[in-house]
Amino acid sequence: MKKISDSSTTKSSSQKTRYVYNFGEQTDGNASMRELLGGKGANLAEMAAIGLPVPPGFTVSTDVCTYFYAHGRSYPKTLAKDVEVAVKSVAKQMKREFGGRDNPLLVSVRSGARDSMPGMMDTILNLGLNDETVEGLASISDNPRFAWDCYRRFIQMYGDVVMGVQALNEESECPFHALLDNMKKSLNKELDNELTAEELQELVQRYKKLIADKTGKSFPQDVYEQLWGAVGAVFGSWKNDRAILYRSQYGIPAEWGTAVNIQAMVFGNAGDDSGTGVAFTRDPATGEKVFYGEYLTNAQGEDVVAGVRTPKPIAAMAKELPKNFTDLEKVRTRLEKHFKDMQDFEFTIENGRLFILQTRNGKRTGLAAIRIAVELNKEKLIDQKTALLKIPAESVDTLLVPVFDAKAQKEAKLICTGLPAGPGAATGRIAFTAAQAEIEARKGNKVILCRSETSPDDLKGMLHSQGILTTRGGVSSHAALVARQLGKVCICGAADITINYERKTLTANGITLKEGDYISINGTTGSVYQGLIESADSEVKRVLEGTMKASESYTYELFNTVMEWSDKYRKLRIRTNADTPAMAQTAVAYGAEGIGLCRTEHMFFEGSRIDDMRQMILAVDGVQRREALKKLLPMQRKDFVGLFKAMAGRPVTIRLLDPPLHEFLPQDDAVRRQLADKLGLPLEFVIDRIKALHEENPMLGCRGCRLGILYPEITEMQVQAIFEAAAELLTAKKPVEVHPEIMIPLVGFKAELADQLAIVHRIAEQVMTKKKIKFKYMVGTMVEVPRAAITADEIAEHAEFFSFGTNDLTQTTLGLSRDDMGLFYDEYQQKEIYSKNPFASLDKTGVGKLMQFAVTNGQKTRKDLKLGICGEHAGDPDSIDFCHNLGLQYVSCSPPRVPIARLAAAQAALRAAK
Ligand code: PEP
Ligand code: MG
Repeated sequence: MKKISDSSTTKSSSQKTRYVYNFGEQTDGNASMRELLGGKGANLAEMAAIGLPVPPGFTVSTDVCTYFYAHGRSYPKTLAKDVEVAVKSVAKQMKREFGGRDNPLLVSVRSGARDSMPGMMDTILNLGLNDETVEGLASISDNPRFAWDCYRRFIQMYGDVVMGVQALNEESECPFHALLDNMKKSLNKELDNELTAEELQELVQRYKKLIADKTGKSFPQDVYEQLWGAVGAVFGSWKNDRAILYRSQYGIPAEWGTAVNIQAMVFGNAGDDSGTGVAFTRDPATGEKVFYGEYLTNAQGEDVVAGVRTPKPIAAMAKELPKNFTDLEKVRTRLEKHFKDMQDFEFTIENGRLFILQTRNGKRTGLAAIRIAVELNKEKLIDQKTALLKIPAESVDTLLVPVFDAKAQKEAKLICTGLPAGPGAATGRIAFTAAQAEIEARKGNKVILCRSETSPDDLKGMLHSQGILTTRGGVSSHAALVARQLGKVCICGAADITINYERKTLTANGITLKEGDYISINGTTGSVYQGLIESADSEVKRVLEGTMKASESYTYELFNTVMEWSDKYRKLRIRTNADTPAMAQTAVAYGAEGIGLCRTEHMFFEGSRIDDMRQMILAVDGVQRREALKKLLPMQRKDFVGLFKAMAGRPVTIRLLDPPLHEFLPQDDAVRRQLADKLGLPLEFVIDRIKALHEENPMLGCRGCRLGILYPEITEMQVQAIFEAAAELLTAKKPVEVHPEIMIPLVGFKAELADQLAIVHRIAEQVMTKKKIKFKYMVGTMVEVPRAAITADEIAEHAEFFSFGTNDLTQTTLGLSRDDMGLFYDEYQQKEIYSKNPFASLDKTGVGKLMQFAVTNGQKTRKDLKLGICGEHAGDPDSIDFCHNLGLQYVSCSPPRVPIARLAAAQAALRAAK
């Protein structure tokens, strides 16, 4: 694991490894130490160092997490002593005593990984309370009710997180909540804060009994035992299911580990002059520069983020707690100036005194990421390069996704409104549980996950959903945070809705919908609609297609700024995988600079062409085959004319026929009969030919260049069509420039390429002579089987370019079918065997090494070998970064991913130059 070179972290013979870093009066860390202290720990240290009011505490480093997992969940020998010294220092700064009967110090114990993983790991608050210290807290606060409320909260959290007393499944209730609800019911009280000190004291007894009954152990009274239990639980939570799922979603390596932050508690629930909240320095949904957030008076932080009570907007604080609001505004400005990014920070006010508990770069929607980066640049806080690096490349996608059709939305039945927490438009079937969302999604249905509140356990269901709707919680609830980051449409706190999990219904304003019914949500406005609403193109798309003026859309202006900056800094060229003129046009509008892959087989699927193709496949000899190919030639020529025109002089790489032929043949009896009738062939003949063409393993069978070698007339027809199209355009009244690049698929031997090359050159000569014109073209190959990479030096003797077909190269290198990962992929993810899906993001250490080998050796033979990639990985930012460093000249991705690739390519260049 890479570690920053801080002298205090290195081990020399005279110096032991440092595991504990203080913040407060003495601060050992700073913001650059995220790897060692985690994001939370590093920023707490930084805030303490610049004089912000941070309660004192210390961070147990990520090294300890690594040690913990490498040594059977145990700790380095010196840790206990170091922690004790650090606790004593915190106690001294707070003028309290840990476990002290009269003036007890209470602490929070929180996780903190290098990248924040909101809500995925565990937290314990109010640690240090026991049957004695609770009395001490009651007397120093002069508020027994508050003390007993803290104690019951602590037992509940500790019992759940450390001792495992939890709800049995997502539909059953938390057993602590059940006891609390029972008590309220029996006393005829509605709200938690109506319970008296004596009643809370009684609740504490019931909680302790619950723990003893469920675990056979009593709730620990020793405060250090409590502390180590909590530290172990937090380290343990690095490997809980939801953290693993989150890591796989965001490509966070398991080796990073988490740090643990132990910090003096301050109390937002100490009375009406106390409170707690979460604030963003800008709006995380839209990126607008407004102070944004929410708070609750007389509450602890968990009440805000867990979404149990719906908090008030931050602006309300100006009236309710005016002095604190002014201080908070100052903190807002200071934090942004210092960290040079939008911050998401937590604060607590204890009896009128403001404390900052955490700050981090705020999670934001794609739109907000772009707006904030561009506007921070306008405000001269950051330069263009820094701004580009701040935008997750994938987030560009959110500017291109559809919105509801305005007319359809107006006509739809509005059920109610909630808080707009993740913008965009989503329609789908209602699912009330994460499991149901997954079932619907696997059936191919669109889903809206509807919950009264979500917990991080719902992550899997959220991933499968188009949108998330909750009836409780605010814009910083887990549902909102996670949805925004996932780019999901989200509405929170739709309080008019009542969900009945048992009956599987949702009711609002007299309308009842069942599980499976359609619902539509507009996460930009917060409106919830009954039924399905048609969606419409985004503003950016409309401007690009010329149906909206650029000057009318600020979103487009932002998009365009980022694209212009990207083009300035990127080295990689961006091409697209397109097979039709329409696709090509869209891609050009998105900024494509050429076609990197035209899959010619896709051109044969349309209309009656498929039957002509089938006739060609069923032919028993070359003569019959040529007859059928004659019919296909003019169609192919027309296709290429269209494609060349759409690309207007940009390079176009055309791949010759690649797939197993039997993919074109009908499996259905009725269709086989129709085909036999149409071709005037006996049905038995058709059936026999289809049988004869059957392969056990077609992906490794008669496909790719093997087709052209077996049936040279197919290659002849295709290249004739390409060259005749080129000649036609070059000699047209208004000539169009053309740059055809002919690509031979699935080559593993140089002799295969030589065979096909001879045909290409022969036909080119023929067309040039016949049309009396000279044109330039290139011939190259895909590198998509390991043998091609390994013999790249030989293959490059014939190939003018290599295009890495990483779909097949991954398939053949990993010995893993592109189409059959479903059966074991979940298990692999669970065990973190693949850090990412290797078909979505390049397996750099395996497939990547082959690519590197091919580049080095191909270039040894041919210095000016042109290099690109056209597998799906070409649209994945992380893989694009790899391709930049590999020295490829271009990446070729699907049209909608072109803008993402432009930005990712710029980021790769900027990172490499650092
Ligand atoms: C590839 O294999 O990466 C490729 C682009 O070709 P196809 O996906 O058509 O097999
Ligand atoms: Mg392929």
